[in-house]
Amino acid sequence: MTGTSSTRSLPEVTVTLDVEDLRPDQSLQEAALPERVVEMTNRVLDLFGEYGVRASVYVVGELAERRPELVRRAASEGHEIGLHSWSHVPIPTRTPETFAEECRRGRALLQDLSGQEVTGYRAPMMSLVPAAAWAIPVIAEAGFTYSSSVLPGPSPLFGWPGLPRQPFRWLNGPIEFPCPLVRMPGIDLPYLGGTYLRLLPSFVRRHGLRRSTSDEALWAYCHPWEFDPDEDFHPHEHIGMLASRVAWLRRSRMERQVRRLLADPLAGPLGEVASGLVASDAPLPVVDPTASTTAGRVARWADGRLRDR
Ligand SMILES: [Zn+2]
Repeated sequence: MTGTSSTRSLPEVTVTLDVEDLRPDQSLQEAALPERVVEMTNRVLDLFGEYGVRASVYVVGELAERRPELVRRAASEGHEIGLHSWSHVPIPTRTPETFAEECRRGRALLQDLSGQEVTGYRAPMMSLVPAAAWAIPVIAEAGFTYSSSVLPGPSPLFGWPGLPRQPFRWLNGPIEFPCPLVRMPGIDLPYLGGTYLRLLPSFVRRHGLRRSTSDEALWAYCHPWEFDPDEDFHPHEHIGMLASRVAWLRRSRMERQVRRLLADPLAGPLGEVASGLVASDAPLPVVDPTASTTAGRVARWADGRLRDR
């Protein structure tokens, strides 16, 4: 490594997009809200095309069923297609039986539409949490070989403190790519997440990238609605009013911020990163989701040793 920290080249980041329509159940609405997800997804895919980015695009199953053209377009432009749940509700609200059926159905649909083997699963809202540990073997049984579904720290919404920060393998389950975090004073931030890309200056992202370690798999995520300053406010289900309000902040900045990200070094889709790990025989940590070691790691985190592995 040469040069100062300010000129050192940044590590590569995989770009991911979670394609979802977060309007409340439209069958329950007297005045339906206009659908904006098609237009906004196309806008993001245009942006990716402009930069020649190949991203991982995770699509909600019921949206893919309603708007198959979104999956077809993303696949035809070289993006990896993965499943972002069937109906975008947190995993712990599902029964194992329903969740299994939705994983199978969603994966089959996306494979039909994309012509790809679909290997990646992303939980809605990072809702793969200890209370949903039962879902891990189900994800593998449905045919997914990797997941990027956990926030490996405390979170007011969904998090799993104590998990490794680098890719690991779930015991009897898929490879997991945990959401990248950077430690800022008093808090661990998912600094490559849409909200943070939108709200924070680019130097926070670059600071996080420079603090990352070479064994992390870095991925950013964003959503079509984050690029939409014109959408009327509506609460998002399952995340509460405060987070719903935050989801409306500074959307007019999003495209500019993402352009900066896309101009920095990028890695290929997570499916390719996973294949590379398997092919290289890299020794991944193995995590038993039901083991008590997780609680021990939580305690170590509470002592402030966040980067301790
Ligand atoms: Zn989502």
